[in-house]
Amino acid sequence: MQEVSTDVLIVGAGGAGMYAAISAARQDASVLLLDKSLIGRGGATIMAQMTVAAALGQEEPDDCATHLKDTLEAGRGLCNEELSALLCFGGPERILEMQEWGTRWARAGERVRQEIAPGHSRKRCCYVDFLNTGPAVAATLRRKVSELAAIRRLSNIAVVDLVIKDGRAIGAVGLDLADGEFVVCHAKAIILAAGGLTKLYERNSASSNMGGEAYALALWAGAELIDMEFVQFFPIGHLAPRLVGMDPIMWDPFRYKLGGKLLNGDFVEFVDRYGAVDFGKYTATRDIAAYAILKEVEAGRGTPHGGAYLDFRHIPETQLRAAFGPVIDRLLTNGIDLTKTPVEVGPTAHYHMGGIRVNARMETCIQGLYAAGEAVGGANGANRLSGNAITEAFVFGARAGACAGEQVKTFSRNEDRKLAQVALDRIASLPPRSSKRGVAPIALQAELQNLMWEKAGPFRTGEKLSEAERQIREMLEQELSGLEIAGDGAFNMDLQDWFELRAMLTTAEAVVTSALSREESRGAHQREDYPNVDPLYLKNQVVTLKNGALISSWANPVRLCAGLPTRD
Ligand SMILES: Cc1cc2nc3c(=O)[nH]c(=O)nc-3n(C[C@H](O)[C@H](O)[C@H](O)COP(=O)(O)OP(=O)(O)OC[C@H]3O[C@@H](n4cnc5c(N)ncnc54)[C@H](O)[C@@H]3O)c2cc1C
Repeated sequence: MQEVSTDVLIVGAGGAGMYAAISAARQDASVLLLDKSLIGRGGATIMAQMTVAAALGQEEPDDCATHLKDTLEAGRGLCNEELSALLCFGGPERILEMQEWGTRWARAGERVRQEIAPGHSRKRCCYVDFLNTGPAVAATLRRKVSELAAIRRLSNIAVVDLVIKDGRAIGAVGLDLADGEFVVCHAKAIILAAGGLTKLYERNSASSNMGGEAYALALWAGAELIDMEFVQFFPIGHLAPRLVGMDPIMWDPFRYKLGGKLLNGDFVEFVDRYGAVDFGKYTATRDIAAYAILKEVEAGRGTPHGGAYLDFRHIPETQLRAAFGPVIDRLLTNGIDLTKTPVEVGPTAHYHMGGIRVNARMETCIQGLYAAGEAVGGANGANRLSGNAITEAFVFGARAGACAGEQVKTFSRNEDRKLAQVALDRIASLPPRSSKRGVAPIALQAELQNLMWEKAGPFRTGEKLSEAERQIREMLEQELSGLEIAGDGAFNMDLQDWFELRAMLTTAEAVVTSALSREESRGAHQREDYPNVDPLYLKNQVVTLKNGALISSWANPVRLCAGLPTRD
Protein backbone atom coordinates (compact mmCIF):
# COMPACT_ATOMS: atom_id res chain seq x y z
CA MET A 1 0.00 0.00 0.00
CA GLN A 2 1.42 3.38 -1.05
CA GLU A 3 0.93 5.77 1.91
CA VAL A 4 1.53 9.39 2.86
CA SER A 5 0.82 11.09 6.21
CA THR A 6 0.08 14.65 7.19
CA ASP A 7 -1.66 16.76 9.82
CA VAL A 8 -4.02 18.53 7.40
CA LEU A 9 -4.99 17.07 4.03
CA ILE A 10 -6.49 19.51 1.54
CA VAL A 11 -8.44 18.13 -1.41
CA GLY A 12 -8.32 20.65 -4.27
CA ALA A 13 -5.81 23.42 -4.88
CA GLY A 14 -7.88 26.31 -6.27
CA GLY A 15 -8.22 29.62 -4.44
CA ALA A 16 -9.84 28.02 -1.38
CA GLY A 17 -7.44 25.06 -1.14
CA MET A 18 -4.29 27.14 -1.52
CA TYR A 19 -5.48 29.72 1.01
CA ALA A 20 -6.38 26.90 3.40
CA ALA A 21 -2.91 25.40 3.00
CA ILE A 22 -1.19 28.70 3.80
CA SER A 23 -3.43 29.24 6.79
CA ALA A 24 -2.97 25.74 8.22
CA ALA A 25 0.80 26.03 7.78
CA ARG A 26 0.68 29.28 9.76
CA GLN A 27 -0.68 27.16 12.64
CA ASP A 28 2.46 24.99 12.40
CA ALA A 29 0.56 22.07 10.93
CA SER A 30 2.07 19.89 8.26
CA VAL A 31 -0.06 20.16 5.12
CA LEU A 32 -0.61 17.93 2.12
CA LEU A 33 -2.22 19.83 -0.75
CA LEU A 34 -3.62 17.50 -3.43
CA ASP A 35 -5.17 18.26 -6.77
CA LYS A 36 -6.36 16.09 -9.62
CA SER A 37 -4.99 18.76 -11.93
CA LEU A 38 -1.72 20.69 -11.42
CA ILE A 39 -1.52 22.61 -8.15
CA GLY A 40 -3.16 26.02 -8.58
CA ARG A 41 -3.90 25.45 -12.24
CA GLY A 42 -7.17 23.48 -12.24
CA GLY A 43 -10.72 24.48 -11.42
CA ALA A 44 -12.53 27.81 -11.54
CA THR A 45 -10.19 30.21 -9.73
CA ILE A 46 -7.66 30.44 -12.51
CA MET A 47 -10.44 30.82 -15.10
CA ALA A 48 -12.17 33.78 -13.47
CA GLN A 49 -11.39 36.89 -15.45
CA MET A 50 -13.64 39.45 -13.87
CA THR A 51 -13.97 40.83 -10.38
CA VAL A 52 -13.70 40.14 -6.65
CA ALA A 53 -16.16 41.80 -4.25
CA ALA A 54 -14.91 43.35 -1.00
CA ALA A 55 -16.04 46.45 0.88
CA LEU A 56 -12.71 48.27 0.72
CA GLY A 57 -14.54 51.56 0.30
CA GLN A 58 -11.71 52.97 -1.81
CA GLU A 59 -13.81 54.11 -4.77
CA GLU A 60 -16.73 55.43 -2.74
CA PRO A 61 -17.86 55.05 0.89
CA ASP A 62 -18.71 51.42 1.64
CA ASP A 63 -18.68 49.06 4.61
CA CYS A 64 -18.94 45.35 5.30
CA ALA A 65 -22.44 45.63 6.78
CA THR A 66 -23.72 47.07 3.48
CA HIS A 67 -22.01 44.30 1.54
CA LEU A 68 -23.72 41.83 3.88
CA LYS A 69 -27.10 43.49 3.36
CA ASP A 70 -26.72 43.21 -0.44
CA THR A 71 -25.61 39.57 -0.14
CA LEU A 72 -28.57 38.62 2.06
CA GLU A 73 -31.00 40.37 -0.26
CA ALA A 74 -29.66 38.45 -3.26
CA GLY A 75 -29.90 35.21 -1.22
CA ARG A 76 -33.74 35.57 -1.00
CA GLY A 77 -33.94 34.70 2.70
CA LEU A 78 -31.97 31.47 2.55
CA CYS A 79 -28.45 32.61 3.43
CA ASN A 80 -26.67 31.11 6.38
CA GLU A 81 -26.14 34.59 7.75
CA GLU A 82 -23.16 33.63 9.86
CA LEU A 83 -21.34 32.40 6.77
CA SER A 84 -22.45 35.41 4.71
CA ALA A 85 -21.14 37.72 7.44
CA LEU A 86 -17.82 35.89 7.54
CA LEU A 87 -17.56 36.29 3.76
CA CYS A 88 -18.37 40.01 3.73
CA PHE A 89 -16.43 41.01 6.83
CA GLY A 90 -13.42 38.86 5.97
CA GLY A 91 -13.18 40.05 2.36
CA PRO A 92 -11.22 43.29 2.75
CA GLU A 93 -8.50 41.71 4.88
CA ARG A 94 -7.96 38.93 2.33
CA ILE A 95 -7.84 41.36 -0.62
CA LEU A 96 -5.25 43.51 1.13
CA GLU A 97 -3.28 40.43 2.16
CA MET A 98 -3.25 39.25 -1.46
CA GLN A 99 -1.93 42.69 -2.40
CA GLU A 100 0.86 42.32 0.17
CA TRP A 101 1.69 38.95 -1.35
CA GLY A 102 1.97 40.46 -4.82
CA THR A 103 -1.45 40.67 -6.50
CA ARG A 104 -1.50 43.94 -8.43
CA TRP A 105 -5.11 45.08 -8.15
CA ALA A 106 -5.94 47.74 -10.75
CA ARG A 107 -5.37 51.15 -9.19
CA ALA A 108 -6.21 54.78 -9.79
CA GLY A 109 -3.33 56.51 -8.04
CA GLU A 110 -3.34 55.29 -4.43
CA ARG A 111 -6.79 53.78 -4.64
CA VAL A 112 -7.71 50.22 -5.60
CA ARG A 113 -10.20 50.63 -8.45
CA GLN A 114 -13.63 49.17 -7.76
CA GLU A 115 -16.55 48.75 -10.14
CA ILE A 116 -20.26 48.42 -9.56
CA ALA A 117 -21.83 45.08 -10.49
CA PRO A 118 -25.46 43.92 -10.58
CA GLY A 119 -26.92 43.53 -7.08
CA HIS A 120 -24.13 45.51 -5.36
CA SER A 121 -25.25 48.88 -4.03
CA ARG A 122 -21.70 50.28 -4.08
CA LYS A 123 -18.64 50.23 -6.33
CA ARG A 124 -17.15 47.19 -4.63
CA CYS A 125 -15.64 44.85 -7.21
CA CYS A 126 -11.89 44.95 -7.68
CA TYR A 127 -9.93 43.36 -10.47
CA VAL A 128 -6.47 43.04 -11.93
CA ASP A 129 -7.70 43.68 -15.43
CA PHE A 130 -10.62 42.17 -17.29
CA LEU A 131 -8.52 39.27 -18.53
CA ASN A 132 -6.21 38.35 -15.69
CA THR A 133 -7.88 38.51 -12.29
CA GLY A 134 -8.15 34.73 -11.81
CA PRO A 135 -4.73 33.89 -13.29
CA ALA A 136 -3.14 36.66 -11.18
CA VAL A 137 -4.62 35.57 -7.85
CA ALA A 138 -3.84 31.92 -8.61
CA ALA A 139 -0.21 32.88 -9.36
CA THR A 140 0.05 34.83 -6.09
CA LEU A 141 -1.25 31.90 -4.07
CA ARG A 142 0.94 29.36 -5.90
CA ARG A 143 3.99 31.47 -5.12
CA LYS A 144 3.03 31.87 -1.47
CA VAL A 145 2.35 28.13 -1.13
CA SER A 146 5.73 27.31 -2.65
CA GLU A 147 7.47 29.50 -0.06
CA LEU A 148 6.14 27.47 2.87
CA ALA A 149 8.14 24.34 3.66
CA ALA A 150 5.29 22.86 5.72
CA ILE A 151 3.16 22.46 2.58
CA ARG A 152 3.74 19.39 0.45
CA ARG A 153 2.11 19.56 -2.99
CA LEU A 154 0.90 16.60 -5.02
CA SER A 155 -0.56 17.13 -8.48
CA ASN A 156 -2.49 14.57 -10.54
CA ILE A 157 -4.10 12.87 -7.54
CA ALA A 158 -7.88 12.57 -7.68
CA VAL A 159 -9.36 11.82 -4.27
CA VAL A 160 -12.01 9.14 -4.78
CA ASP A 161 -13.04 8.30 -1.21
CA LEU A 162 -12.53 9.35 2.40
CA VAL A 163 -11.66 7.08 5.31
CA ILE A 164 -13.89 7.60 8.34
CA LYS A 165 -13.40 5.92 11.70
CA ASP A 166 -15.91 6.28 14.57
CA GLY A 167 -17.37 9.45 13.05
CA ARG A 168 -13.97 11.05 12.48
CA ALA A 169 -12.19 11.72 9.17
CA ILE A 170 -8.79 10.03 9.24
CA GLY A 171 -7.72 9.74 5.64
CA ALA A 172 -8.47 9.56 1.95
CA VAL A 173 -7.90 7.26 -0.98
CA GLY A 174 -6.54 8.96 -4.09
CA LEU A 175 -6.11 7.75 -7.65
CA ASP A 176 -2.70 8.72 -8.98
CA LEU A 177 -3.57 9.75 -12.51
CA ALA A 178 0.03 9.50 -13.62
CA ASP A 179 0.37 5.75 -13.00
CA GLY A 180 -3.22 4.60 -12.47
CA GLU A 181 -2.39 3.33 -8.95
CA PHE A 182 -4.08 4.22 -5.66
CA VAL A 183 -2.50 6.05 -2.76
CA VAL A 184 -3.67 6.29 0.87
CA CYS A 185 -3.33 9.63 2.68
CA HIS A 186 -3.49 9.50 6.48
CA ALA A 187 -4.50 12.81 8.06
CA LYS A 188 -5.68 14.28 11.33
CA ALA A 189 -8.03 16.63 9.50
CA ILE A 190 -9.29 16.95 5.92
CA ILE A 191 -10.49 20.05 4.06
CA LEU A 192 -12.67 19.51 1.00
CA ALA A 193 -11.88 22.38 -1.36
CA ALA A 194 -12.63 20.62 -4.64
CA GLY A 195 -14.85 23.35 -6.10
CA GLY A 196 -18.26 23.31 -7.77
CA LEU A 197 -20.42 21.09 -9.94
CA THR A 198 -21.25 22.94 -13.14
CA LYS A 199 -19.68 20.25 -15.32
CA LEU A 200 -22.83 18.26 -14.55
CA TYR A 201 -24.50 20.39 -17.23
CA GLU A 202 -24.08 20.21 -20.98
CA ARG A 203 -23.81 23.98 -21.17
CA ASN A 204 -21.36 25.21 -18.58
CA SER A 205 -18.60 27.70 -17.92
CA ALA A 206 -16.59 25.06 -16.06
CA SER A 207 -13.15 23.58 -16.43
CA SER A 208 -12.92 19.84 -17.06
CA ASN A 209 -12.53 19.11 -13.35
CA MET A 210 -15.64 20.65 -11.83
CA GLY A 211 -17.74 17.51 -11.66
CA GLY A 212 -18.99 18.07 -8.11
CA GLU A 213 -16.74 15.50 -6.48
CA ALA A 214 -16.48 17.39 -3.18
CA TYR A 215 -20.21 16.99 -2.63
CA ALA A 216 -20.17 13.25 -3.35
CA LEU A 217 -17.12 12.70 -1.11
CA ALA A 218 -18.90 14.56 1.70
CA LEU A 219 -22.11 12.56 1.28
CA TRP A 220 -20.30 9.19 1.19
CA ALA A 221 -18.43 10.20 4.36
CA GLY A 222 -21.72 10.86 6.19
CA ALA A 223 -21.69 14.68 6.01
CA GLU A 224 -24.71 16.79 5.06
CA LEU A 225 -25.34 18.86 1.94
CA ILE A 226 -27.51 21.94 1.90
CA ASP A 227 -29.69 23.61 -0.77
CA MET A 228 -28.35 21.54 -3.66
CA GLU A 229 -31.16 22.77 -5.93
CA PHE A 230 -29.59 26.23 -6.25
CA VAL A 231 -27.39 26.06 -9.33
CA GLN A 232 -26.69 29.50 -10.78
CA PHE A 233 -27.28 29.78 -14.52
CA PHE A 234 -25.56 32.71 -16.09
CA PRO A 235 -27.95 34.17 -18.72
CA ILE A 236 -25.53 35.29 -21.39
CA GLY A 237 -22.74 32.71 -21.49
CA HIS A 238 -20.86 32.68 -24.78
CA LEU A 239 -22.14 30.17 -27.36
CA ALA A 240 -20.62 31.16 -30.73
CA PRO A 241 -18.42 31.91 -32.63
CA ARG A 242 -15.83 29.74 -30.94
CA LEU A 243 -13.90 31.61 -28.24
CA VAL A 244 -10.42 30.36 -27.38
CA GLY A 245 -8.62 31.37 -24.19
CA MET A 246 -11.34 33.70 -22.93
CA ASP A 247 -13.87 33.64 -20.14
CA PRO A 248 -17.22 32.37 -21.50
CA ILE A 249 -19.11 34.62 -19.09
CA MET A 250 -17.24 37.78 -19.99
CA TRP A 251 -20.14 39.63 -21.62
CA ASP A 252 -22.15 40.76 -18.60
CA PRO A 253 -20.26 43.89 -17.51
CA PHE A 254 -19.97 45.09 -21.10
CA ARG A 255 -23.68 44.58 -21.70
CA TYR A 256 -24.54 46.66 -18.66
CA LYS A 257 -21.89 49.28 -19.29
CA LEU A 258 -22.53 49.79 -22.99
CA GLY A 259 -26.10 48.63 -23.46
CA GLY A 260 -25.61 45.50 -25.56
CA LYS A 261 -28.88 44.57 -27.28
CA LEU A 262 -30.34 41.07 -26.99
CA LEU A 263 -31.90 39.98 -30.30
CA ASN A 264 -33.65 36.76 -31.18
CA GLY A 265 -32.85 34.60 -34.22
CA ASP A 266 -34.93 36.99 -36.38
CA PHE A 267 -32.74 39.91 -35.16
CA VAL A 268 -35.63 41.38 -33.17
CA GLU A 269 -35.39 42.64 -29.56
CA PHE A 270 -37.57 40.49 -27.32
CA VAL A 271 -36.74 40.83 -23.61
CA ASP A 272 -39.45 43.44 -22.97
CA ARG A 273 -42.10 40.90 -23.90
CA TYR A 274 -41.09 38.96 -20.77
CA GLY A 275 -41.75 41.62 -18.16
CA ALA A 276 -38.56 43.69 -18.15
CA VAL A 277 -37.91 47.19 -19.40
CA ASP A 278 -34.87 46.40 -21.49
CA PHE A 279 -35.23 48.33 -24.75
CA GLY A 280 -32.82 51.24 -24.74
CA LYS A 281 -31.73 50.41 -21.18
CA TYR A 282 -30.56 46.80 -21.30
CA THR A 283 -30.95 46.30 -17.60
CA ALA A 284 -33.13 43.15 -17.40
CA THR A 285 -32.09 41.07 -14.41
CA ARG A 286 -30.29 37.77 -14.97
CA ASP A 287 -33.32 35.56 -14.28
CA ILE A 288 -35.58 37.46 -16.72
CA ALA A 289 -32.91 37.55 -19.42
CA ALA A 290 -32.36 33.78 -19.05
CA TYR A 291 -36.08 33.04 -19.12
CA ALA A 292 -36.69 35.27 -22.15
CA ILE A 293 -33.83 33.69 -24.15
CA LEU A 294 -34.92 30.12 -23.44
CA LYS A 295 -38.56 30.89 -24.25
CA GLU A 296 -37.59 32.42 -27.61
CA VAL A 297 -35.54 29.30 -28.39
CA GLU A 298 -38.49 27.10 -27.38
CA ALA A 299 -40.73 29.12 -29.74
CA GLY A 300 -38.33 28.42 -32.63
CA ARG A 301 -36.90 31.96 -32.61
CA GLY A 302 -33.44 31.06 -31.29
CA THR A 303 -30.06 31.57 -32.96
CA PRO A 304 -28.29 28.69 -34.77
CA HIS A 305 -26.58 27.55 -31.52
CA GLY A 306 -29.76 27.75 -29.44
CA GLY A 307 -29.50 31.18 -27.80
CA ALA A 308 -29.85 34.87 -28.61
CA TYR A 309 -27.64 37.44 -30.32
CA LEU A 310 -25.80 39.99 -28.21
CA ASP A 311 -25.29 43.00 -30.42
CA PHE A 312 -22.95 45.97 -29.90
CA ARG A 313 -23.05 47.24 -33.50
CA HIS A 314 -24.95 50.39 -32.49
CA ILE A 315 -22.02 51.52 -30.31
CA PRO A 316 -19.24 53.60 -31.92
CA GLU A 317 -15.89 51.80 -32.17
CA THR A 318 -14.09 54.37 -29.99
CA GLN A 319 -16.57 53.74 -27.19
CA LEU A 320 -16.23 49.98 -27.60
CA ARG A 321 -12.42 50.24 -27.44
CA ALA A 322 -12.57 52.44 -24.34
CA ALA A 323 -14.84 49.99 -22.51
CA PHE A 324 -13.36 46.67 -23.64
CA GLY A 325 -9.71 47.70 -23.34
CA PRO A 326 -7.38 44.79 -24.22
CA VAL A 327 -10.37 42.45 -24.51
CA ILE A 328 -11.30 43.87 -27.91
CA ASP A 329 -8.01 42.80 -29.49
CA ARG A 330 -8.23 39.37 -27.90
CA LEU A 331 -11.71 39.07 -29.46
CA LEU A 332 -10.32 40.08 -32.85
CA THR A 333 -7.75 37.27 -32.66
CA ASN A 334 -10.76 34.98 -32.15
CA GLY A 335 -12.24 36.40 -35.36
CA ILE A 336 -14.89 38.42 -33.52
CA ASP A 337 -15.29 42.02 -34.68
CA LEU A 338 -17.99 43.56 -32.50
CA THR A 339 -18.47 46.50 -34.85
CA LYS A 340 -19.57 44.11 -37.57
CA THR A 341 -21.16 41.00 -36.04
CA PRO A 342 -23.21 40.10 -32.99
CA VAL A 343 -22.19 37.07 -30.89
CA GLU A 344 -24.47 34.24 -29.79
CA VAL A 345 -25.13 33.91 -26.06
CA GLY A 346 -27.38 31.80 -23.83
CA PRO A 347 -27.88 30.58 -20.26
CA THR A 348 -25.05 28.41 -18.96
CA ALA A 349 -24.43 26.63 -15.64
CA HIS A 350 -21.91 28.79 -13.82
CA TYR A 351 -21.77 28.44 -10.02
CA HIS A 352 -23.30 26.45 -7.19
CA MET A 353 -24.86 28.18 -4.20
CA GLY A 354 -25.62 24.90 -2.43
CA GLY A 355 -23.00 22.57 -1.06
CA ILE A 356 -21.46 20.99 2.00
CA ARG A 357 -23.13 22.05 5.25
CA VAL A 358 -20.60 23.56 7.67
CA ASN A 359 -20.63 25.62 10.84
CA ALA A 360 -18.83 28.94 11.24
CA ARG A 361 -15.55 27.04 11.75
CA MET A 362 -16.07 25.45 8.30
CA GLU A 363 -16.47 22.07 9.98
CA THR A 364 -18.99 19.45 8.84
CA CYS A 365 -20.87 17.14 11.18
CA ILE A 366 -18.00 14.63 10.75
CA GLN A 367 -15.22 15.40 13.19
CA GLY A 368 -12.08 16.62 11.45
CA LEU A 369 -13.83 17.07 8.10
CA TYR A 370 -13.92 20.67 6.86
CA ALA A 371 -14.95 22.33 3.61
CA ALA A 372 -13.99 25.59 1.90
CA GLY A 373 -14.74 27.64 -1.21
CA GLU A 374 -17.47 26.85 -3.71
CA ALA A 375 -17.80 23.40 -2.17
CA VAL A 376 -19.47 25.05 0.86
CA GLY A 377 -23.21 25.71 0.75
CA GLY A 378 -25.22 28.47 2.37
CA ALA A 379 -23.29 31.75 2.28
CA ASN A 380 -25.08 32.95 -0.85
CA GLY A 381 -28.50 31.43 -0.18
CA ALA A 382 -30.67 31.13 -3.31
CA ASN A 383 -28.59 33.44 -5.51
CA ARG A 384 -25.04 34.81 -5.55
CA LEU A 385 -23.83 38.32 -6.21
CA SER A 386 -21.11 38.59 -8.81
CA GLY A 387 -17.64 38.81 -7.30
CA ASN A 388 -18.65 37.04 -4.07
CA ALA A 389 -17.32 33.65 -5.15
CA ILE A 390 -13.61 34.42 -5.20
CA THR A 391 -13.95 36.30 -1.91
CA GLU A 392 -15.71 33.21 -0.54
CA ALA A 393 -12.83 31.01 -1.73
CA PHE A 394 -10.23 33.21 0.00
CA VAL A 395 -12.14 33.84 3.22
CA PHE A 396 -13.45 30.32 3.75
CA GLY A 397 -10.13 28.80 2.69
CA ALA A 398 -8.24 30.94 5.21
CA ARG A 399 -10.75 30.10 7.92
CA ALA A 400 -10.91 26.36 7.25
CA GLY A 401 -7.10 26.18 7.24
CA ALA A 402 -6.82 28.13 10.49
CA CYS A 403 -9.51 26.07 12.26
CA ALA A 404 -8.21 22.71 11.03
CA GLY A 405 -4.62 23.71 11.81
CA GLU A 406 -5.62 24.67 15.32
CA GLN A 407 -7.73 21.57 15.90
CA VAL A 408 -5.07 19.07 14.85
CA LYS A 409 -2.91 20.30 17.73
CA THR A 410 -5.34 18.49 20.04
CA PHE A 411 -5.68 15.39 17.85
CA SER A 412 -3.43 12.42 18.14
CA ARG A 413 -2.50 10.66 14.93
CA ASN A 414 -5.19 8.15 14.16
CA GLU A 415 -3.66 6.10 11.39
CA ASP A 416 -5.49 2.85 10.94
CA ARG A 417 -3.63 0.88 8.30
CA LYS A 418 -6.09 -2.00 8.43
CA LEU A 419 -9.07 0.25 7.82
CA ALA A 420 -7.17 2.12 5.08
CA GLN A 421 -6.38 -1.19 3.40
CA VAL A 422 -10.06 -2.17 3.50
CA ALA A 423 -11.04 1.20 1.98
CA LEU A 424 -8.38 0.87 -0.68
CA ASP A 425 -9.38 -2.69 -1.61
CA ARG A 426 -13.02 -1.66 -1.86
CA ILE A 427 -12.23 1.30 -4.11
CA ALA A 428 -9.85 -0.73 -6.28
CA SER A 429 -12.56 -3.34 -6.80
CA LEU A 430 -15.19 -0.85 -8.00
CA PRO A 431 -14.30 -0.09 -11.64
CA PRO A 432 -15.64 -2.75 -14.03
CA ARG A 433 -13.02 -5.18 -15.32
CA SER A 434 -14.95 -6.73 -18.17
CA SER A 435 -12.98 -7.12 -21.36
CA LYS A 436 -16.04 -6.98 -23.60
CA ARG A 437 -16.42 -3.83 -25.63
CA GLY A 438 -18.95 -1.47 -24.18
CA VAL A 439 -19.79 2.14 -23.59
CA ALA A 440 -16.90 4.36 -22.42
CA PRO A 441 -17.41 6.35 -19.17
CA ILE A 442 -17.09 9.63 -21.06
CA ALA A 443 -20.10 8.70 -23.20
CA LEU A 444 -22.25 8.22 -20.10
CA GLN A 445 -20.90 11.50 -18.70
CA ALA A 446 -22.14 13.24 -21.86
CA GLU A 447 -25.52 11.55 -21.49
CA LEU A 448 -25.76 12.73 -17.89
CA GLN A 449 -24.81 16.29 -18.87
CA ASN A 450 -27.48 16.31 -21.54
CA LEU A 451 -30.06 14.91 -19.10
CA MET A 452 -29.23 17.53 -16.47
CA TRP A 453 -29.48 20.35 -19.00
CA GLU A 454 -32.77 19.14 -20.45
CA LYS A 455 -34.52 18.08 -17.23
CA ALA A 456 -32.87 19.95 -14.35
CA GLY A 457 -31.66 23.11 -16.08
CA PRO A 458 -32.68 26.75 -15.61
CA PHE A 459 -36.44 26.06 -15.80
CA ARG A 460 -37.72 22.91 -14.17
CA THR A 461 -40.96 21.00 -13.72
CA GLY A 462 -41.86 18.11 -11.42
CA GLU A 463 -42.34 15.86 -14.42
CA LYS A 464 -38.93 16.58 -15.92
CA LEU A 465 -37.17 16.27 -12.56
CA SER A 466 -38.83 12.92 -11.80
CA GLU A 467 -37.68 11.63 -15.16
CA ALA A 468 -34.13 12.87 -14.46
CA GLU A 469 -34.19 11.16 -11.06
CA ARG A 470 -35.30 7.88 -12.62
CA GLN A 471 -32.62 7.98 -15.30
CA ILE A 472 -29.84 8.88 -12.86
CA ARG A 473 -30.77 5.93 -10.62
CA GLU A 474 -30.67 3.67 -13.65
CA MET A 475 -27.22 4.99 -14.59
CA LEU A 476 -26.02 4.50 -11.01
CA GLU A 477 -27.49 1.06 -10.44
CA GLN A 478 -27.13 -0.54 -13.86
CA GLU A 479 -25.00 1.34 -16.36
CA LEU A 480 -22.04 2.46 -14.21
CA SER A 481 -20.89 -1.08 -13.50
CA GLY A 482 -21.18 -2.13 -17.17
CA LEU A 483 -18.96 0.55 -18.72
CA GLU A 484 -15.79 -0.29 -20.57
CA ILE A 485 -12.45 0.81 -19.17
CA ALA A 486 -9.94 0.34 -21.94
CA GLY A 487 -6.37 -0.60 -20.95
CA ASP A 488 -4.63 0.39 -17.74
CA GLY A 489 -1.52 2.24 -16.58
CA ALA A 490 -0.48 5.88 -16.91
CA PHE A 491 -3.06 8.58 -17.54
CA ASN A 492 -5.83 6.11 -18.22
CA MET A 493 -8.61 8.53 -19.10
CA ASP A 494 -11.30 5.85 -18.90
CA LEU A 495 -10.39 5.09 -15.28
CA GLN A 496 -10.33 8.78 -14.33
CA ASP A 497 -13.61 9.39 -16.12
CA TRP A 498 -15.20 6.40 -14.44
CA PHE A 499 -14.40 7.62 -10.91
CA GLU A 500 -15.42 11.14 -11.82
CA LEU A 501 -18.69 9.87 -13.29
CA ARG A 502 -19.41 7.89 -10.13
CA ALA A 503 -19.19 11.12 -8.12
CA MET A 504 -21.05 13.15 -10.74
CA LEU A 505 -24.01 10.76 -10.60
CA THR A 506 -24.25 10.99 -6.80
CA THR A 507 -24.05 14.78 -6.91
CA ALA A 508 -26.51 15.03 -9.81
CA GLU A 509 -28.98 12.94 -7.85
CA ALA A 510 -28.64 15.29 -4.87
CA VAL A 511 -29.39 18.29 -7.14
CA VAL A 512 -32.40 16.64 -8.77
CA THR A 513 -33.89 15.25 -5.55
CA SER A 514 -33.59 18.65 -3.89
CA ALA A 515 -35.06 20.47 -6.89
CA LEU A 516 -37.99 18.08 -6.89
CA SER A 517 -38.76 18.67 -3.21
CA ARG A 518 -38.69 22.47 -3.41
CA GLU A 519 -42.11 23.20 -4.89
CA GLU A 520 -41.65 26.94 -5.42
CA SER A 521 -39.55 29.33 -7.51
CA ARG A 522 -36.91 31.25 -5.59
CA GLY A 523 -33.66 32.78 -6.78
CA ALA A 524 -31.83 30.43 -9.09
CA HIS A 525 -34.34 27.59 -8.63
CA GLN A 526 -37.19 28.18 -11.09
CA ARG A 527 -40.11 25.73 -11.30
CA GLU A 528 -42.54 26.33 -14.15
CA ASP A 529 -45.18 24.31 -12.28
CA TYR A 530 -44.68 26.41 -9.10
CA PRO A 531 -43.84 29.88 -10.47
CA ASN A 532 -44.15 31.81 -7.18
CA VAL A 533 -42.11 32.18 -4.02
CA ASP A 534 -43.83 30.21 -1.25
CA PRO A 535 -43.17 31.44 2.31
CA LEU A 536 -43.54 27.83 3.51
CA TYR A 537 -40.25 27.13 1.79
CA LEU A 538 -38.30 29.83 3.59
CA LYS A 539 -36.13 26.95 4.71
CA ASN A 540 -32.88 25.27 3.84
CA GLN A 541 -33.01 21.79 2.46
CA VAL A 542 -30.58 19.29 3.99
CA VAL A 543 -29.60 16.11 2.17
CA THR A 544 -27.88 13.06 3.63
CA LEU A 545 -27.16 9.57 2.38
CA LYS A 546 -28.57 6.59 4.33
CA ASN A 547 -28.03 3.04 3.05
CA GLY A 548 -27.43 4.32 -0.46
CA ALA A 549 -30.61 6.45 -0.54
CA LEU A 550 -30.77 10.24 -0.36
CA ILE A 551 -32.87 11.61 2.48
CA SER A 552 -33.95 15.23 2.43
CA SER A 553 -35.20 17.30 5.37
CA TRP A 554 -35.81 20.99 6.12
CA ALA A 555 -34.08 23.36 8.53
CA ASN A 556 -34.45 27.02 9.47
CA PRO A 557 -31.74 29.22 7.97
CA VAL A 558 -29.01 30.28 10.42
CA ARG A 559 -29.71 33.89 11.42
CA LEU A 560 -27.18 36.34 12.78
CA CYS A 561 -28.17 36.62 16.41
CA ALA A 562 -24.75 37.28 17.91
CA GLY A 563 -24.47 40.61 16.05
CA LEU A 564 -22.16 41.55 13.24
CA PRO A 565 -18.57 40.37 13.28
CA THR A 566 -15.82 42.97 13.25
CA ARG A 567 -13.14 43.04 10.59
CA ASP A 568 -10.48 40.71 11.94
C1 LIG B 1 -15.30 30.90 -16.15
C2 LIG B 1 -15.55 31.34 -14.73
C3 LIG B 1 -15.48 32.69 -14.40
C4 LIG B 1 -15.71 33.12 -13.10
N1 LIG B 1 -15.59 34.45 -12.79
C5 LIG B 1 -15.72 34.86 -11.52
C6 LIG B 1 -15.50 36.23 -11.16
O1 LIG B 1 -15.18 37.07 -11.99
N2 LIG B 1 -15.65 36.57 -9.84
C7 LIG B 1 -16.01 35.67 -8.88
O2 LIG B 1 -16.12 36.02 -7.70
N3 LIG B 1 -16.21 34.36 -9.21
C8 LIG B 1 -16.07 33.95 -10.47
N4 LIG B 1 -16.26 32.62 -10.78
C9 LIG B 1 -16.51 31.65 -9.69
C10 LIG B 1 -15.23 31.43 -8.90
O3 LIG B 1 -14.14 31.43 -9.80
C11 LIG B 1 -15.25 30.11 -8.12
O4 LIG B 1 -16.42 30.01 -7.36
C12 LIG B 1 -14.05 30.02 -7.17
O5 LIG B 1 -12.86 30.30 -7.86
C13 LIG B 1 -14.00 28.62 -6.57
O6 LIG B 1 -12.77 28.44 -5.91
P1 LIG B 1 -12.49 27.03 -5.23
O7 LIG B 1 -11.08 27.08 -4.75
O8 LIG B 1 -13.55 26.70 -4.29
O9 LIG B 1 -12.59 25.97 -6.42
P2 LIG B 1 -11.71 25.82 -7.74
O10 LIG B 1 -10.92 27.02 -8.05
O11 LIG B 1 -12.64 25.32 -8.78
O12 LIG B 1 -10.67 24.68 -7.34
C14 LIG B 1 -11.07 23.36 -7.08
C15 LIG B 1 -9.89 22.44 -7.33
O13 LIG B 1 -10.24 21.12 -6.90
C16 LIG B 1 -9.68 20.18 -7.79
N5 LIG B 1 -10.43 18.93 -7.67
C17 LIG B 1 -11.70 18.68 -8.05
N6 LIG B 1 -12.03 17.41 -7.72
C18 LIG B 1 -10.95 16.86 -7.12
C19 LIG B 1 -10.68 15.58 -6.56
N7 LIG B 1 -11.60 14.61 -6.55
N8 LIG B 1 -9.45 15.34 -6.04
C20 LIG B 1 -8.50 16.32 -6.06
N9 LIG B 1 -8.72 17.55 -6.58
C21 LIG B 1 -9.92 17.82 -7.08
C22 LIG B 1 -9.78 20.85 -9.15
O14 LIG B 1 -8.84 20.32 -10.04
C23 LIG B 1 -9.50 22.32 -8.79
O15 LIG B 1 -8.14 22.64 -8.95
C24 LIG B 1 -16.04 32.17 -12.09
C25 LIG B 1 -16.12 30.82 -12.42
C26 LIG B 1 -15.89 30.39 -13.71
C27 LIG B 1 -15.98 28.92 -14.04
